[in-house]
Amino acid sequence: MKYNFSDVVNRMKPSEIRELNKMASSPGIISLGGGMPSPETFPIKELTEIMEFVMKKNSDLALQYGNTLGINPVREQISKMLEKTEGIKCNMENIIVNSGSQQGLYELGTVLANPGDTVITEEPTYVGAVSAFSANGLKMEGIPVDHNGMKVELLEEKIKKLILEGRKPRFIYVIPTFQNPTGYTMPVERRKVLIEISKKYDVPLVEDNPYGQLRYYGEPVPCIRSMTGGEDVIYLGTFSKVMTPGLRLGYTIAPEPVMEKFNLIKQALDLATNSFSQYVAYEYIKRGIIYKQVELNKQIYRKKRDAIVNALKANMSDISTFSEPDGGMFVWVTVDKNVDTKQMIPLAIKNGVAYVSGQAFTTNGTQKSSMRLNFTFGSVEQLEEGIKRIRKTINESA
Ligand code: PMP
Repeated sequence: MKYNFSDVVNRMKPSEIRELNKMASSPGIISLGGGMPSPETFPIKELTEIMEFVMKKNSDLALQYGNTLGINPVREQISKMLEKTEGIKCNMENIIVNSGSQQGLYELGTVLANPGDTVITEEPTYVGAVSAFSANGLKMEGIPVDHNGMKVELLEEKIKKLILEGRKPRFIYVIPTFQNPTGYTMPVERRKVLIEISKKYDVPLVEDNPYGQLRYYGEPVPCIRSMTGGEDVIYLGTFSKVMTPGLRLGYTIAPEPVMEKFNLIKQALDLATNSFSQYVAYEYIKRGIIYKQVELNKQIYRKKRDAIVNALKANMSDISTFSEPDGGMFVWVTVDKNVDTKQMIPLAIKNGVAYVSGQAFTTNGTQKSSMRLNFTFGSVEQLEEGIKRIRKTINESA
């Protein structure tokens, strides 16, 4: 049989991270590649107890199909949690529970744009967003980031230019807090500008905030959805970093007309999100475990963040610049030397360390001398050794 594949899927490239994970799982390799939480942060005892409780008390519902938009008591708990943690005010009717926020990204690409349409992202941006938008046949225009996130002063010009070309962007996608891949956070002033531009040009703003709760230093910056004028912002959140990624639970907040379309597309995708996971999350929030767990995660990750930043200072400051994030899971390193970090990967693997190249987070092959390092998965010792191995690899490749 000769299979003819769609143009969309033929244009998609395998994710560098998936490919890398295959190599990085060999024994002896320290992986700073994937964006995985540490298993030490999984609340195993609490989840075991909750799972037994759900099976005993609620199995009729937890093992049944649920509402397409999510189980109502769960949506209600999420809305309460978001008010407490992020200052977001929203009704449960404006929340859809998804199979990870990854599914929310895919839904956005289907609901808000047609194949061939253009969307604006940060440059670099989350690799999974690139794949979700590409799978919908969308084109991405990146606005460069600096230490304060997207350079919003370039955004208006870009939108005007795209409108003149007949390619008005369908939405603007940002990760303003502890961005993946850079770790940068956008200050309030820039967030205000984003809201203004989105309103002025009638281009929806999408805020993806998986890391907002993982702050190790400094004062919180309000999420855009909670700011004055931010009520129309479409907001994505996830349980992956504050419970576990394996239960695959995320959510999107959106205004009523968008929710109606999400409802249609979600029926086509999977009818409804896993009911069992949703009831587990319900108990996890209602019993207040989530808030204690986030505090524990922060203690563990703060030490690891310090370990990687100190190791970078000791081993890499003469040849690179790097972010020193106040939270999240990633450090972004840019090497001064003319190093192509993608080409360097086989040598790094040989030297026993894995990372993701900067290019993986772009749609236009820039960021060649950068790399994203994850600091939540490895132990402090592995992080320290991993950075030494990266330095050795750079020396050998130069
Ligand atoms: N958005 C961003 C910015 C992410 O970093 C991730 C996970 N790495 C996701 C969305 C997807 O997370 P999940 O599907 O596990 O909720």
